[in-house]
Amino acid sequence: MAALDGLPPLREVIQRHGLDARKALGQNFLLDLNLTQKVARTAGALQDVTVLEVGPGPGGLTRAILALGAKKVIAVERDARCLPALAEIADHYAGRLEVIEGDALKIDFEELASEGPVKIIANLPYNVGTQLLVNWLLPKTWPPFWQSLTLMFQKEVGERIVASEDDDHYGRLGVLAGWRTHARMAFDIPPQAFTPPPKVTSTVVHLTPNENPIPCSVANLEKVTQAAFGQRRKMLRQSLKPLGGEGLLTKAGIDPARRAETLSVEEFCRVANSL
Ligand code: SAM
Repeated sequence: MAALDGLPPLREVIQRHGLDARKALGQNFLLDLNLTQKVARTAGALQDVTVLEVGPGPGGLTRAILALGAKKVIAVERDARCLPALAEIADHYAGRLEVIEGDALKIDFEELASEGPVKIIANLPYNVGTQLLVNWLLPKTWPPFWQSLTLMFQKEVGERIVASEDDDHYGRLGVLAGWRTHARMAFDIPPQAFTPPPKVTSTVVHLTPNENPIPCSVANLEKVTQAAFGQRRKMLRQSLKPLGGEGLLTKAGIDPARRAETLSVEEFCRVANSL
């Protein structure tokens, strides 16, 4: 793709700007521009779309998103060392890349996304990825401000996001994502595709909003899933005791002898609504 967008190869960019990867910032860079294009393509058509990206780093994924025609990319990067490299991309794609230096956990993405359709695409730093996803699943209003989330995670986290009942990976994340979205794992990326290689395989997860999720209070659903999966091997009559135990479950029409991992999203909502 270097030839496609006319910008220099990422290895050269990294060397020229001294962007040695920092572990504390979860920096595992994707330098293969075919792969970054594959990630960006997973988000579907990007024309007329504003893309919000977290952690552009030296800009491999950013370049792919822009080359695929996104109207605009707004990228939030914590590491100031990356800004000069990103400025080169912004110059190349005049008016289409805005970079915000800061901590993505402190950014109001809904406010950033004031214009037109919005998609979120990111190779997330491992230490804040799950929290960012939860924030995007629980915005002030639903359907949310975004059309889709295309996010790279450690594979084990991806498995937890797409998990449903009777799956070992099923837990709070699976219930939240299953309640409000249609989530799928698109493809895996092996460690050696990154510089430096992480210890584990990564996966790209694609989520689109469920426009009509079962009506349910977020706070109650959070309380129930936290208590139920906090003691996942115990019967629900025991793990949900602080919330009403057997009485609560009977009201919701759930056998109190069942365990958390056997309850569907719909059944979790029923328990939450009986609180
Ligand atoms: N997008 C690049 C790629 O695919 O090669 C880099 C991905 S790297 C896994 C994660 C990026 O997130 C790094 O550039 C890192 O500096 C940045 N980052 C880490 N913590 C962050 C935070 N709290 N807010 C915004 N960016 C962060």
